[in-house]
Amino acid sequence: MKPNEMTIIEAARALRARELTVRALWDACAAAIKAKNPELNAYLEVFEADEAAIADAQKRIDEGDTSVLCGIPLAIKDNILIEGKIASAASKMLENYTATYDATAIKKLRDAGALFLGRTNMDEFAMGSSTEHSAFGPSKNPADPTRVPGGSSGGSATAVAAHLSIAALGSDTGGSIRQPAAYTGLVGFKPTYGAVSRSGLIALGSSLDQIGPLTKSVADARILHQAIAGSDPLDATTIPVNLYPKREMKNSLCIGVPRHLLSEGVDADVRAAFDAMLEKLVAAGHTIVDVELPTSSHALAAYYVIMPAEVSANLARLDGMRYGHREQGATLLDDYIDSRTAGFGEETRRRILLGTFVLSSGYIDAYYKKADAARAVLRAEYDKAFEDVDVIAFPTTPSPAFTFGEKSDPLVMYLGDIFTVTANLTGMPAISLPMGTVSRGDVNLPVGIHFTAPHQAEELLFAVGESVEKAQ
Ligand code: GLN
Repeated sequence: MKPNEMTIIEAARALRARELTVRALWDACAAAIKAKNPELNAYLEVFEADEAAIADAQKRIDEGDTSVLCGIPLAIKDNILIEGKIASAASKMLENYTATYDATAIKKLRDAGALFLGRTNMDEFAMGSSTEHSAFGPSKNPADPTRVPGGSSGGSATAVAAHLSIAALGSDTGGSIRQPAAYTGLVGFKPTYGAVSRSGLIALGSSLDQIGPLTKSVADARILHQAIAGSDPLDATTIPVNLYPKREMKNSLCIGVPRHLLSEGVDADVRAAFDAMLEKLVAAGHTIVDVELPTSSHALAAYYVIMPAEVSANLARLDGMRYGHREQGATLLDDYIDSRTAGFGEETRRRILLGTFVLSSGYIDAYYKKADAARAVLRAEYDKAFEDVDVIAFPTTPSPAFTFGEKSDPLVMYLGDIFTVTANLTGMPAISLPMGTVSRGDVNLPVGIHFTAPHQAEELLFAVGESVEKAQ
């Protein structure tokens, strides 16, 4: 096996068995990037080898350091700050912005001895489901380069799926880790809201955003998550470890399936792959029961009100005055308008307008407050369902990866987020795992199965994830 094709666990073992050096592992990833990144556009920038960090990681391993992440090269989404590196959020607005500090997640990985290969492509400011909204061209799906890798963390997904990195960090506001993981055949994990610090993550929807891993295995996702999790004085929304009641761990889980949500809009072969995986989970000793989540039909609408509202507030700081792209106009107002028009892409402008509208006086009651009320009901409905079941399952996406340009109508693109947005609205943890492939023409495309668990019950997700892995 080539070193760049290893999982975190495999590479950590090989490093300790002296079958591999940190340098050789780094070089294998760097060589794969050199060969394939020009076509796949997974990375917007590939970093030079940090010789001191490589030597330090090797020394730690030689001296018996047990940190699994020591010496492991990772890919980092371009909205997560790494001190001294550009963090552009794939926007012209921040094309030349250099981070002045490490995100807390980066600091923790650095302390664990991890290495950073580069910053990965994404939809501008993490709005989108395909990377087509990147200001620097889309990434391609390694399973079929005529198709999108998903988004917004599509560059991270492509990097890991094509073995241009051992694992990656993405961010998830409405599915941006889980959907690209599903489209590229990876594990994608969104933690409980507040489990991971958002300090140093370029804010999108502050009540929805979480940083999480895209990996080749469930064990890797757990390792990366545990390395970055924890409460943080720099993010007041982070939570202590036992904020929510502890869930009992068991070998046989009760899996709720909201079948009423799957009767329409899901491709027949995706549905068949989902049903086949459920059967395998039953054979492995788990129980499947029906759950009713009636408000789920309003989740997408609520998300596409709340999320743009938060976007409009968060991106207001990018006005050409403080930092970011600047255009000089005839008046101060022209400065603002020209800077923001030139700096932001179409989708970003659309959401800023939408968000400003739903927050404006006269409309805030009709839109924002209604959406916020729906969000509370949705959360109560999920809390109720979790009195009877351990996790809730559905397909991660209704369809496999689409071709470039296929979803140029924004509403059609938004519809694909139907299953992923709820976990962000409720703040619950969720995971997407590979559940086989479906064929389109002569290519086989990965599809994902999605599980949601109660707040802070991430271990239940890793447990069911390991069952899915074994059932492949
Ligand atoms: N596709 C969703 C959106 O465009 C998800 C974004 C995200 O999770 N960052 O809003």
